[in-house]
Amino acid sequence: MNYNFDKFEQKLLQLHLSMTDLMKNQFSQYYDLMCEWNKVMNLTAITEFDEVIEKHFLDSVALGAFIDLKHEKRIIDIGTGAGFPGIPLKILFPELDILLVDSLKKRIVFLNEVIQKLEISNICAVHGRAEDFAHKKDYREKYDLCVSRAVAHLSCLSEYCIPFVKRGGMFVAYKSAEITEELTQSERAIEILGGKLSKVEKFQLPDTEYGRSFVFIEKVNHTLKTYPRKAGTPVRCHL
Ligand code: SAM
Repeated sequence: MNYNFDKFEQKLLQLHLSMTDLMKNQFSQYYDLMCEWNKVMNLTAITEFDEVIEKHFLDSVALGAFIDLKHEKRIIDIGTGAGFPGIPLKILFPELDILLVDSLKKRIVFLNEVIQKLEISNICAVHGRAEDFAHKKDYREKYDLCVSRAVAHLSCLSEYCIPFVKRGGMFVAYKSAEITEELTQSERAIEILGGKLSKVEKFQLPDTEYGRSFVFIEKVNHTLKTYPRKAGTPVRCHL
């Protein structure tokens, strides 16, 4: 199907971002696949094209307005679900090397289909829990950037995500606009895990009421081997 990308392009421009015809084609294919698979499995509650563009695609890539993603080499997206923010980031910044992780097998099957149909390379989707993957040698402290959207409270999310980040790298949590209380509740966890709150960028999607905060956490110390704790513990018992 031919979709109108004018609004998406204009909003990207406001964020000083742009896209090629190939990228438009990939976003179209991704949208079509998402709608098709959404009929048989739960991928997203939002299916109308303009809303998907705004709340999923634009929201995912908006991080590019705050950091130079051309220089971020290895990225891991924890709890990626239907591929957010990882797939839109990969489409708009094709040089990135991205690992998508989710604990729901069916979503990984969908993501592998997306990766194959969009013919994108240096991207991989794996099934498993963050708590388990973070203890594997090939994944632990191997990433320049870890991103995660709509997965858990920041305290729990820090335990999922910070162990994957190299010292000197960054974990960016996509959070809602109002974040003060959650940040206070997560300070201790961030420090225990070897992180340091670097900054919070508040951000409004162009021409919408939709606000969010990007929470930037720098990895300043190695994470102790005891973290993350056993699968299921971080969500039940915050540090
Ligand atoms: N990030 C996507 C987005 O913004 O649309 C999906 C958000 S969805 C609400 C949360 C996702 O996190 C689900 O797909 C779930 O399977 C995954 N998830 C939850 N806990 C996880 C864990 N411990 N390890 C890996 N994935 C997890």
